[in-house]
Amino acid sequence: MLGAIIGDIIGSRFEFNNTNRTDFDLFTEESTYTDDTICTIAIADAILNGKKYKNSLLEWCRKYPNPKGAYGGSFARWIQSDDPQPYNSYGNGSAMRVSPVGWLFDSHQKVLSQAQLSAIPSHDHMGGIFGAQCVAALIFKLRTGEIDKGGIEQYISGYGYHVNSVNSIRMHNTFNETCHVTVPQAISCFLEANDFEETIRLAVSIGGDSDTIAAIAGSIAESYYKIPDHIAVLAIDKLPDDMFMIFTQFIKENPIYGDRLLKL
Ligand SMILES: [Mg+2]
Repeated sequence: MLGAIIGDIIGSRFEFNNTNRTDFDLFTEESTYTDDTICTIAIADAILNGKKYKNSLLEWCRKYPNPKGAYGGSFARWIQSDDPQPYNSYGNGSAMRVSPVGWLFDSHQKVLSQAQLSAIPSHDHMGGIFGAQCVAALIFKLRTGEIDKGGIEQYISGYGYHVNSVNSIRMHNTFNETCHVTVPQAISCFLEANDFEETIRLAVSIGGDSDTIAAIAGSIAESYYKIPDHIAVLAIDKLPDDMFMIFTQFIKENPIYGDRLLKL
């Protein structure tokens, strides 16, 4: 949850101005939440407050119609439609917003079914559903200790995903917004990094859809590593009050998460 928000905020200034470096400043005045944070908050709000995923996504995205970097073209039309219908998307929007599902449900099966429900209002292509399920399931399995880094390569092969070295991804990367390309890239960054901050730095440094890749990588990394306090504070400071309130509710109603955030 916060890992996704942090990745989004740190990656926000690089989405259309890619860097291949890892030694950039994490936060500057330019750094801000984008669609990835808005949609993540919407999914958390849906679960915590009994809203349908579709209604919550529409509510939040319509409340914040012009985030930095904008919404993807098809998703923007979906938000503005009088009768929004799924548009067979396999874009990474389903994967970047799903992290609350990995924390707020208590079995692998429930996480998979809820990840699917969170995807299908817009991303009903199997590629979009797989992206959401794989990210949410990894969060669940890592936070519960059902899997460690050594088991991830085999687990994600079930989704048709493969790990690559960060160097090789960086060398060959082009802008891509699909789940089947960017989700395994984000996972590869997490696997190669040694802590939360390094995961985000590697995710930004491969270029492409930086804020979303960093959001996905950050959401997975926080289920395994502690987020350094100074990074958490700087990101939380960038959230508007209504988003901060949902994040606060998420922590209150999810004591395991709050404990990890404070103590790990
Ligand atoms: Mg974005």
